[in-house]
This record gives sequence, C-alpha cells and structure tokens, in this order.
Amino acid sequence: MNRTAIYPGTFDPITLGHVDVVTRGLKLFDRIVIGVADNPNKGPMFDAETRVNMVRETFEAEPQVEIARFSGLLVDLAHQYQAHAILRGLRAASDFEYEFQMATMNRRLDAEIETAFVMAREDYTFVSSRFIREISGMGGDVSALVPPPVLAYLEER
Ligand code: ADP
Repeated sequence: MNRTAIYPGTFDPITLGHVDVVTRGLKLFDRIVIGVADNPNKGPMFDAETRVNMVRETFEAEPQVEIARFSGLLVDLAHQYQAHAILRGLRAASDFEYEFQMATMNRRLDAEIETAFVMAREDYTFVSSRFIREISGMGGDVSALVPPPVLAYLEER
C-alpha cells in the first residue's frame, strides 16, 4: 500500500523545523507531498516560485518527497495526489488553536482525510519562518536553523 500525506505550508522560507516534520512524517508515510501555498495575502518575503525552489533544493536527494505549489483547497490537492492524510507539525500549545480549526474544517470538507500531527524536535520548538526572516533581516546568523540552500537565498535579499 502506498501511503501519501500532504504537508502544506507557506514555507517562507523552509526551516530545519519543517525538515524535521518531513523526516518524522517519512516514518509514517511512504510519500510526502510538500504543498507550498501561494498565500499572497500573507505578504510573503519570498514569492511562491522561490519558496518552491528552496524546498526542491532542500529535498533534492529524497525520492519519497515531492513538491507541489497550490492555491486552492487543501483537500483538492490531497485528491490530486491520492493522499489520505495531511501532515502538520506542533511546536507549542499556541500552535494548537489554529491547527485544531484547520483540521476540523478540512475534516468537514472531506471526512476520509486524516490530519496527523508530529511534535517538533526539542531544539527546534522555537524555530519559525517569521523569526528566520526577522533575525536574518537584521544580519543575525541563522545557518544552524535553515537548510543550506536557503542560506544563499537569504543572503541574496
Ligand atoms: P502555515 O502558513 O500553514 O502556518 P508554515 O510554513 O508556517 O505554514 O508551517 C507549516 C507547518 O509546519 C505548520 O503545521 C507548523 O506548525 C509546522 N512547523 C513550523 N515550524 C515548525 C517547527 N520548528 N517544528 C515543528 N513544526 C513546525
């Protein structure tokens, strides 16, 4: 049986916290499709194409990971890839409220798709794309917190 999960997010940019979620997800699923949401209303630092490229370069050597850019409903993306699950990561209780709403809404849209959560690695619980953008924007060193390909993109900015 081929078990596929969609891991959706903005990935603005992808961090080692996101990579950790994928690594954990691969223990549960055969294939993970990373869904990079266009999310123009979030006013992302990197455009969708660049975010996709950063994710692609990060997982270049991982055949079980695919990347899909999307702008519509998550459940539609799941159908497109015949995924039976949505993968999300939890860092702290503060993540829960939003994740709970999203999982409940997606369940209403398609009761057959399960949302699965994995816990962040302890030393990445404080890592978020927002902090990466802020710290790097002020010249701070984020090299221990993002995959190597992302560093080049941040330096370019
Ligand atoms: P979104 O815009 O949907 O919140 P993000 O790219 O910020 O997208 O996050 C995607 C998912 O990854 C979310 O479930 C988020 O909680 C999770 N996540 C982000 N950073 C980490 C981390 N450091 N450890 C574990 N999960 C994380």
